[in-house]
Amino acid sequence: MKILCCALFLAGTLLFGGPEGPSQAPVGVYVEYEHPTSGSTSELIQDDVQSILSPLGFDIQWRPTQAAGKEVWSDLAVVTFEGDCSFAANSREKFVPGALGWTRAVGADIQPFIGIDCRRIGSLLQTQMTSALTRNPQRLFARAVARVLAHELYHVFARSRAHQDSGVGKAEFTVKDLLMDRFQFHPEQARLLRKTSQDDVRHFPASAETSPRRAAPEEPKSPTPSPTSSLYFPRAASQ
Ligand SMILES: [Zn+2]
Repeated sequence: MKILCCALFLAGTLLFGGPEGPSQAPVGVYVEYEHPTSGSTSELIQDDVQSILSPLGFDIQWRPTQAAGKEVWSDLAVVTFEGDCSFAANSREKFVPGALGWTRAVGADIQPFIGIDCRRIGSLLQTQMTSALTRNPQRLFARAVARVLAHELYHVFARSRAHQDSGVGKAEFTVKDLLMDRFQFHPEQARLLRKTSQDDVRHFPASAETSPRRAAPEEPKSPTPSPTSSLYFPRAASQ
């Protein structure tokens, strides 16, 4: 099992998505917060993710992980938010370079399990406190978390490990990427996502049996990679 780790910080430019797709594919995103998180924060995160993926044809339906197994979707993802998703809780944390988010993979198969490190995202933001962040920390923190999550959802929905050199699908994020007003996918990735959202038959593992639709699977018992796996850092962290 491998883990795609994404999003550190280096300078970069951005490109924008493209025209809106004509259809909306309902996809289930099951979420679990390790720490209690206010409803307003989770709503902000969800709204921002939806604003990135909706123009590409994804109608995201958010569910708690306790509801898994009760519905089937054209596609789905299971997200665990690690650490406290409150900016204030992370404001005194020392930033340790590493992945802000990750997606599991077994061989060539991208698994639907995503991890988001709220602690690291919060401590990264506080290294460059802007006036906007000072004025509205939780709103902008939710925006940053949403962009990391949108990046990981791209890996899951597009079944792709590939990164671009700009936009939400780049391998490393700067603080500016996380906070700027407008930040969307590179046109190539936007095209792939739009095509994916419009596919009637998705590419699922053989265990999906006769149905091309996907019900929420159970996460592997061990949350840690197998001994043969390795963390994948597209580039080394830099200060
Ligand atoms: Zn990535």
